[in-house]
Amino acid sequence: MKTAFLSDIHANLAALEVVLSDVRRRDAGRIVCLGDIVGYGPRPMECLELILDAADLSVLGNHDYYTAFGGRMLRGLREDVADGIAVARNSLDEHHLDALRALPLSVRCGDCVCVHSSLQDPQSFPYVHTTREAREHFAAQTTPMGFIGHSHVPRAWQADAAGTIAKAPVEKGSLAIRPGVRYLINAGSVGQPRDGDPRACYALYDEEAGTVTWPRVPYDVKTTTDAMLALGMPAFSANRLSKGI
Ligand code: ZN
Repeated sequence: MKTAFLSDIHANLAALEVVLSDVRRRDAGRIVCLGDIVGYGPRPMECLELILDAADLSVLGNHDYYTAFGGRMLRGLREDVADGIAVARNSLDEHHLDALRALPLSVRCGDCVCVHSSLQDPQSFPYVHTTREAREHFAAQTTPMGFIGHSHVPRAWQADAAGTIAKAPVEKGSLAIRPGVRYLINAGSVGQPRDGDPRACYALYDEEAGTVTWPRVPYDVKTTTDAMLALGMPAFSANRLSKGI
């Protein structure tokens, strides 16, 4: 069984569509969404409907949370974040917002645990950038595999049997899963990659082969940036997509 982990779609429909075709082409039997379906991008409603239809499981991201629950927490958000939330709140109806409100913060899927940010404190959406932050997550991960998003950067850490936490060895874009070692995988971002590669990214876990890979899929960035600028969204949000930052 292959499972595709899609994170940080961020209302980028052009990117999501090519990723879903790539997932089908690679014959993944299961799709898990790691959150941030909306925010930043121009097509929140279409992305939410596609994910609700295509994903077997989904968790709540911070942008989904701001959009679904709104209120006082919207004050003080950075302009590009607030603008993406405003576009999402304008385009979603109550039924869409209820679907977002129903998403759990974390979910189990076979030998994997899935959460948008970190199991250390999923409700406050901490980032995992460093090995120390990975250690805080691993303290709460009881499954062999953990999948996260949030930083928009594809990477992996491991915790060996002695509890030593380190970056996991990814060779030629593939991580070989070893027995007795626990892994924490960041799936990267479908709709706003930040690792310098503008192509859409997701993670593919092949249980039989014992590998995790991060397929990269080119999409028509201009379709998304044009739609953002037409909606009056910040140029910073639109321009970062072609640079992958
Ligand atoms: Zn995000």
